[in-house]
Amino acid sequence: MSADKERAITAARRILEEHNIQRAPVPVERIIKSRNIVLDYAPLDEDLSGMAYSQDGVSMIGVNALHHPNRQRFSAAHELAHHVLHEERLHGEVHLSKGLRALRRDQVSSQGTDPLEVEANTFASELLMPHQLLLDACGKEGLDLDDEAKVEKLAKKFRVSVSAMKYRLASLM
Ligand SMILES: [Zn+2]
Repeated sequence: MSADKERAITAARRILEEHNIQRAPVPVERIIKSRNIVLDYAPLDEDLSGMAYSQDGVSMIGVNALHHPNRQRFSAAHELAHHVLHEERLHGEVHLSKGLRALRRDQVSSQGTDPLEVEANTFASELLMPHQLLLDACGKEGLDLDDEAKVEKLAKKFRVSVSAMKYRLASLM
């Protein structure tokens, strides 16, 4: 199975439309709660960004409380993706996520990446850094990945980590 990025992007855009999101930062907590998903913050191993599961009709997201708040937002959006895209896999099985850092390590070691994780990160990127809002924020000069100050400014505006913003900008190029 290979990752279906288009499906992930479409799902994220549908949610942005449902909530009529017109500006950054995207209220990911509010979106999650509106879907009756229990969102909980707890200290997890440094390696873990979050977890998702469903049991007896209760949907649950856990986010690593030890990480930076901006990183927690991405983790929450990533776990929301599993509920939206992979719900059938979450029954009776806790899904653990390692986030973007693990993804990059996997790519470097050319081990291939878990399609579910790629889809969840694609969804989270589109949800928190919507294509059009990002283009608007970049302005006429456009994007320059090497412009650290600008990338930091964008990350701040969208309330995501600098590494998540870089990952997102790279995907647009
Ligand atoms: Zn995951």
